[in-house]
Amino acid sequence: MNRRYILAIDQGTTGSRAMIVDAKGKILSSAYKEFPQIYPMPGWVEHDPDVIWDTTLDVMKQAMDKAGTGGDNIKAIGITNQRETTVLWDRNTLRPIGNAIVWQCRRSSSICDDLKRQGLSPLFQEKTGLVIDAYFSATKIKWMLDNIPGARKRARTGEIAFGTIDSWLITKLTRGKVHVTDYTNASRTLIFNIHEKQWDSELLRVFDIPIEMLPRVVPSSGVVGQTDPGLLGSAIPIAGIAGDQQAALFGQACFDQGQVKNTYGTGCFMLLNLGDKKVVPKNGLLLTLACNIEGKPCYALEGSVFIAGAVVQWLRDALGLIESAPQSQEIAMLVEDTGGVYLVPAFAGLGAPYWDMYARGAITGITRSTTKAHIVRAALEGIAYQVKDLVQAFEETTGDTLTELRVDGGASRNNLLMQFQSDILGIPVERSSYIESTGMGAAFLAGLATGMWESGYDINALRTAESRFEPSITQGKRDQLYAGWLDAVERVRSGRDI
Ligand code: ADP
Repeated sequence: MNRRYILAIDQGTTGSRAMIVDAKGKILSSAYKEFPQIYPMPGWVEHDPDVIWDTTLDVMKQAMDKAGTGGDNIKAIGITNQRETTVLWDRNTLRPIGNAIVWQCRRSSSICDDLKRQGLSPLFQEKTGLVIDAYFSATKIKWMLDNIPGARKRARTGEIAFGTIDSWLITKLTRGKVHVTDYTNASRTLIFNIHEKQWDSELLRVFDIPIEMLPRVVPSSGVVGQTDPGLLGSAIPIAGIAGDQQAALFGQACFDQGQVKNTYGTGCFMLLNLGDKKVVPKNGLLLTLACNIEGKPCYALEGSVFIAGAVVQWLRDALGLIESAPQSQEIAMLVEDTGGVYLVPAFAGLGAPYWDMYARGAITGITRSTTKAHIVRAALEGIAYQVKDLVQAFEETTGDTLTELRVDGGASRNNLLMQFQSDILGIPVERSSYIESTGMGAAFLAGLATGMWESGYDINALRTAESRFEPSITQGKRDQLYAGWLDAVERVRSGRDI
């Protein structure tokens, strides 16, 4: 039997994707399917775990069909997933005991407020690297244990299991034989001690979460079990697991300390590989676990911009200034600069480093000669300025200077945006040939564990930069432009503490 391919699963917030990848790192086929979002009340977001499983299995089969391969040709499966989303299921029947609570869901905000009032923020930050927020899994687990009758008791006897989406998919793939998660996913739960690299009994007590319900934590690269042979026609080793942002970092081959990637999607997610070095994050930055060149846990600094590609959607859908997202580039290119206009897209507050939830957006510097093209250009530049703010926060936190930024994600296709990003940062911006860095990260982790690739160096050799953008403006010009941005941001700040 000649097992030649890796099957990568990218289980995301809006849909599930599967890809077949060969030893040269080529994507032979890909299949994607969306699934419904469930909004039971304002601020609540759920997914049906069975639907997630069905769509994932479906795209796996579709990708295999498209590549003309059976399960017996697949060397290993790698999984990457939407992070923090929480599933509880009955270990005997593998039936979920409720819908998955999605990372965006705010229902456990009051649990977070209570913890903050008790002065527990420093304890959580010290142990988990995170801030107390409803995003992370623990308050979602507590909510389910508090609100589903009998759940806590059954969790205590081990009858009920918890998992993030990776755990859930692996449980389904192995028909209940394997209950694991990896370090990167565990580090997003708010109950995992990232220094001792184990579940933290003190934090578990705070939430009254029984340890019996938790998965075993394993490295991101390594065989954890085999798929049930009935599912894909053959038992296939499951050999790679990572949360989506950490998978993208690995997919971008940011294996070494100091390497950083930024993903331009609806928002932006920036991750910096810290190696063994720990830092104390502040101003909304997080310390989290990622993967080193061997797929073993290392530290990473994470920061996010709430509104990135979303501002382009807003230009299209709310203002009607553009017909499609790619057209933003065409229109912005009609003018040489914004003519002093800045667009601060603080639609839902400002993320790191400002961390001001009450700030709201503004367009500043408008004159009689301002045109639609200036506004569109200012919107694109506003994305790049927010990324510069993040880079500055990273540099302040680590004391190191970044020398290059690797980028991916839908809005990274915009050349004007990437050129301006390089200009305003004053460092090269390198766009990967893989738009699917996330799925490739999962494939690389699985392939490393099963001998498809010997080491990260092999993977590095597969990776080619599609385009490289070099800074083309003077430091004086850069400083002048950025000062204008900081001034615009100052005008939208709420001045309120949260
Ligand atoms: P997500 O994973 O968050 O859904 P994607 O990586 O698919 O995001 O990127 C989609 C986002 O990128 C959308 O917000 C869209 O407006 C933006 N986008 C896509 N193409 C372009 C483009 N050529 N120029 C600017 N923005 C773009």
